[in-house]
Amino acid sequence: MHRRDALRTVAGLSLGAVAGCDAAQPSAAPTTASTVAGRTASTTENSSSPAAAALPDEVRHGPRDRPQVALTFHGQGDPRIVTALLDALTRGGAHVTVLAVGTWLAANHDLGRRVLADGHDLGNHTQHHADIKNMKPELAYAEIADCAQAIHAVAGSPGRWFRPSQTQYATATIKAAARRAGYPTCLSYDVDPRDFTDPGAAAIVSATLAAARPGSIVSLHCGHEGTVAAIAPILAGLHERGLRPVTASELLT
Ligand SMILES: [Zn+2]
Repeated sequence: MHRRDALRTVAGLSLGAVAGCDAAQPSAAPTTASTVAGRTASTTENSSSPAAAALPDEVRHGPRDRPQVALTFHGQGDPRIVTALLDALTRGGAHVTVLAVGTWLAANHDLGRRVLADGHDLGNHTQHHADIKNMKPELAYAEIADCAQAIHAVAGSPGRWFRPSQTQYATATIKAAARRAGYPTCLSYDVDPRDFTDPGAAAIVSATLAAARPGSIVSLHCGHEGTVAAIAPILAGLHERGLRPVTASELLT
């Protein structure tokens, strides 16, 4: 369960030993699932963007009536492996969403620029990928705002999407901090092949394809060889099912 890409201890933050994007178990999921389907969400928060105003404060999947799937990536890892991942996505003609960890992005501006140049979304996955669910509001805000600054340095804007670290679902405190930092919608997911546990490419492919439905948002991770190897068969499998990989922005707009 331990990540290979090392998590560094950050002063004042408890990172814990396990650090997938979702430390939460499925049973811990809140019962009020947010959905974009039907655009009926009642939790929309203040936003100056008409498109964002149509979305709830957390999205777990997109519209179910579109043959589209959003592949989303924890953006951190060995630059060599991340490069191989981007190469595989380019070969497959797929546009995805990379949610960057701020410290990683600050050290890898060239890869951040390539993500954008390749037509992917570049989003915010906190500055240190620590356990944001258990942070005080000010620290949670700083984690998001610092990463927003790192993205701005690369992209000229903070990006549209925020995904909390070490939790699949945002708490009210996280949502408030994200909103304050300029992200009215937290980007969750409904398909989790747990590729960060390095189960092997075949397991990642089968878990992804078994769960993917129209509108699905899939949680994947940069920096893992098995994930790189899984990209081509995942894209082929989605194509067979008539599902097109798109960015979060395309799925949710
Ligand atoms: Zn993550």
